[in-house]
Order: sequence, then structure tokens, then C-alpha cells
Amino acid sequence: MHPLADLDHAATTRLRPQVAEAMAPFGSVRYGNPSGSHRLARDAVRAVDDARERLAQVIGCEPGDVVFTSGGTEADNQAVTGGMPPRPGVPVCSAVEHHAVLDVVEALDGRTVAVDASGRVDLEALASLLDELGDRVSIVSVMLANNEVGTINDLSAVAAVIAAHEPEVPRVPLHTDAVQAAAWLDLRTTTEDAQMISLSAHKLGGPKGIGALVVRRPTTVRPLILGGGQERERRSGTLNVAGIVGFAAAMELADAEREATTLRVAALRDRLAAGLVSAVPGLVLTVGGGHPGVPSSGATATLPGACHVCVDGADSEALLFLLESDGVMASAGSSCASGAQEASHVLTAMGVPPHTARGALRLSLGRDSTSADVDLALRVVPSAVERVRAFS
Ligand code: PLP
Repeated sequence: MHPLADLDHAATTRLRPQVAEAMAPFGSVRYGNPSGSHRLARDAVRAVDDARERLAQVIGCEPGDVVFTSGGTEADNQAVTGGMPPRPGVPVCSAVEHHAVLDVVEALDGRTVAVDASGRVDLEALASLLDELGDRVSIVSVMLANNEVGTINDLSAVAAVIAAHEPEVPRVPLHTDAVQAAAWLDLRTTTEDAQMISLSAHKLGGPKGIGALVVRRPTTVRPLILGGGQERERRSGTLNVAGIVGFAAAMELADAEREATTLRVAALRDRLAAGLVSAVPGLVLTVGGGHPGVPSSGATATLPGACHVCVDGADSEALLFLLESDGVMASAGSSCASGAQEASHVLTAMGVPPHTARGALRLSLGRDSTSADVDLALRVVPSAVERVRAFS
């Protein structure tokens, strides 16, 4: 069979067999609705409570802080708006946030903060924006790791800027979108300074359509979805019991295997990055680029699976088409924006010129990635680039 390599793990991941197994009874035998009061319902309540506790352990929060949502998008929307009606004031976010944050900030006439050339939030720019807005800031949202280029933010440093601006407690809440980071980073240490955290199960071997917004007390949110008052009035709708059980199982597995997975995948990524830089003239690593031969883990902290490159003189869409026909599935940037012709807002904010951003290629590895995937990419990318350049 023609070899295939999924190098688009930032888009989604395969449901892990252990997760599917943990979920299975909740669709058939243990199918109760936890909002009820009889035996089936109580069984579902126990399963949800257990999953909530296990998730809280991995996140480093109280079980009651976990609000289950339909995924990262909903969690981001609820965090940034504060629920319905929206929190008064001006929301602030970094310029490279996922659209689930950025578009909400824009819809609420909020403000964005510049990032540096590697995509990290500019702390001085944040401090001066907070000074300019004074007591009108409603929330600061800075992602833990970027979904296109993989850059990791230091949330303690962001929280320190907020604390300097607002010495009184409670302060303006810091929200972080940890959707991409959760597969790789220990949330107990990286998100302890955030009051709200968005998570999504399908990025780490869990099912699609389930995630959480963590809201640490005393921070509060209003519901975005109204109805039966589930999740202590913070999110209505019958709980997705099987999804919640799968989410907890996937997070626990990722946590237990973090060190080994990180070492193995980072080594694969570094071989891929170095191999591409040496095999393809005019290809630069987008983070820490311009230094051929330096793996993308260089000076800027990036997720172990992230390998984002820009290929001079190549059009991403044409490149992706050829790569797919050679068995490599990748993307140009965020999967939500694929098909969009304009340059990614992330690359634009990082100062990547439009003609360079046209050749953006996101190769993202995950825990299922193998050495054979990297070999295939190293075999097919150089010739695909050559053919695309010859056409344009
Ligand atoms: N935030 C980030 C950083 C993401 O990468 C994604 C998914 O692509 C989301 C939010 C949206 O999460 P979900 O697919 O669970 O709605």
C-alpha cells in the first residue's frame, strides 16, 4: 500500500483505544442522564464526578472549577465574553489567538496585543495597553501554546504584568487557551497563574465535541448556553457522559506518558526540521528561522510536535495538494482557516512578509507519529517544492 503520513496532529488526533474502551459502556449499558434521580442517573453522576476529579488532578484545580463544554471553541467564547450578557469592559488578547478567542474579542470591540517575531506575547506592549485602558479591562486572554507555530507563552510573566497593573485582588482575570498545549505540557505548573483555562479532548487522543472551561474561584462566569442549569448554572445541556469519561481517560494517559512522548516526538520533529532545512533551499523554520540547521526547539520554547516552515517561492495550497498525492497530510495553518487564501493572522502578527507567508507549511507531529512518517516527509517535500516552484 502507498505509505501515508499524518503530519496534521494539531488539527486532531486519533481516538486512543483505551479511551474508546473506557467510553463504550456509557453509550449502551450505562446510558443514564446525570440530571435525573433514579439508579441509572445516579450511576451517570458517579461517572461524571469521578472523571471531573481525575481531570482536576491533571489540571491542578478543584473539581468544582471544571465546567464541561462542547470543546475548545465554546470554552473560549464563554471565557472571553464572561457568559451572557457579556462582562462589561474591554477584552484584551494576544494577536495570535485562535479565532475562537480573537473573533470574540473583535466582536466585543476589544484590543489585541502585539507578539514578537516568534509569536510570543510582547509583555511591554501588554503593560502599556493595560495602562492605557486603566480600569476598563474585562479580561486578558493569552494562549499557552500557539496552534500554528507552536510557540509557548510564559503565563507567570503575563500574570505578573497584570498584577503590576492591578495590585488589588481580585484582579482582571487571565484566561488561557491551552487546547494545543494540554497534550504536551504539565498544566499544574504552566497554568497555575491563569484564572480560566480552555481545554479540548480531541487534540490529545480523546473524542471530539467535549472540552472544558476551568474557572478558578473566586473568578466566576455566567452561562453562555441557558436551559436546565447543569454544571452549577454555568453551562446548560445534558452532560455528554461518554465524552466526559473519554476526556478524563485521555488526559490521564497524556499526563502519565508526557515525558517519554515529549522526548520521542521532539527528536522526530528536530530530525524533520533539520532535514527539511538542509534539503530544501529557501525553506526557513518560521520560529527561530533564518538559522538554517538550527532545530526549531532553539531559543524559543515550542511544542515538541510543532514544525512550521515557510517555503520561499511556493504556494501553500499547491504544495499541500502535491504532498497529499505523495501520501503526506499537512496543513497551511489552522485547520479552521484552511482553504482561506489570505495570509494567516498569526504569521502577519509575527512580522512574516506576505510573500513568505504564502509558502507556509504546518507539519505537526503527535504521539502516534513515527520515524517512517518523518522519512516519508523528507523524501517527498523536496520534490513537491521543486515541482510547485517550476509551475509558479
Ligand atoms: N483553540 C485552539 C488553540 C485550537 O487549536 C483549537 C482547535 O483547532 C480550538 C481552540 C478549538 O477547539 P475545538 O475544536 O474543541 O472547538
